[in-house]
Amino acid sequence: MTDLTVLCVTGWCRNGSTIIGNVLNEVPGFFHVGELHFLWKNSTGRGVNGLCGCGAPLTDCDIWSHVLPVGRPAGVSADAHAATVIDRQGSRVRTRHTWRVLRRGLHDGRIRAHADLMGRVYRAVAERTGAHTIVDTTKIPGEAALLAHLPGITPYYVHLVRDPRAVAHSWREPKEYVYAMSAARSTAYWHGFNLASAAITRRFPDRSTLLRYESFIADPAGVVDALLRFCGADPAGNPVHGRTVELGANHTVTGNPDRFRTGATTIRAADDSWRRTLSRADRLAATALAEPLFTRYGYRSASTGAGRLSPTSGAGR
Ligand SMILES: [Zn+2]
Repeated sequence: MTDLTVLCVTGWCRNGSTIIGNVLNEVPGFFHVGELHFLWKNSTGRGVNGLCGCGAPLTDCDIWSHVLPVGRPAGVSADAHAATVIDRQGSRVRTRHTWRVLRRGLHDGRIRAHADLMGRVYRAVAERTGAHTIVDTTKIPGEAALLAHLPGITPYYVHLVRDPRAVAHSWREPKEYVYAMSAARSTAYWHGFNLASAAITRRFPDRSTLLRYESFIADPAGVVDALLRFCGADPAGNPVHGRTVELGANHTVTGNPDRFRTGATTIRAADDSWRRTLSRADRLAATALAEPLFTRYGYRSASTGAGRLSPTSGAGR
């Protein structure tokens, strides 16, 4: 059995992982599963949306209808199996469990059962699609840490960060099936998820990279090139030309509602609307609660320059 590569994106939501995953989905041999963690929740009506990126219900999709039965014991209903998986996820691979997974690995029967399931599911996706590299934009660091314990799987970690003020701005309004969140709450999550993601990077420095969303927006083709080299793939498969990419159908489990868009897609330059519309209080909350990571990742809370990125970010605008 040849090893399967999983390109695992970590970080906090609204960091651009869906578009980056869908761009990589166009690379030969790559397959973007979206946020795989939510497959069981969303396919049984417990999640916020039950549609695959291809537009079909997950239970009817040509990929997921074949993958969902994987690991389900004989005589157990899809609903009961999903309930068991969701329960194990909640008790073993949440963000706060990241450090325990890194330190103690498969330390009990429940986490062994979850690891066994995830290994089988990734392999089933690879068999069904012919992919050698699966892109998983779940982002939950507990699940990401578990990947390193799955036999036959080589994880590569992309810790994707985005300015917490832009993230807070993005959470202000609900978007289709995605609910809204306050700036303080979004930034508290931002801090927790990024702290746990950084712990994974420290544990696996040779197979981890830090990527700022702002760098992707500044030079999408260059960043995709770098990501392909990072995980040992041929940059000749880079589907981005300038700022344009032709997106085909995808089979993502949840993610940004823009995931349903296909066809010629332009990756737009930086969206700075938060600078005009995010209130001073929200801006302060997003800045203060994100420290010290805020500064470490090259963001600045300047009164002059209005929080422009540092020159090291590569955004240069
Ligand atoms: Zn599908």
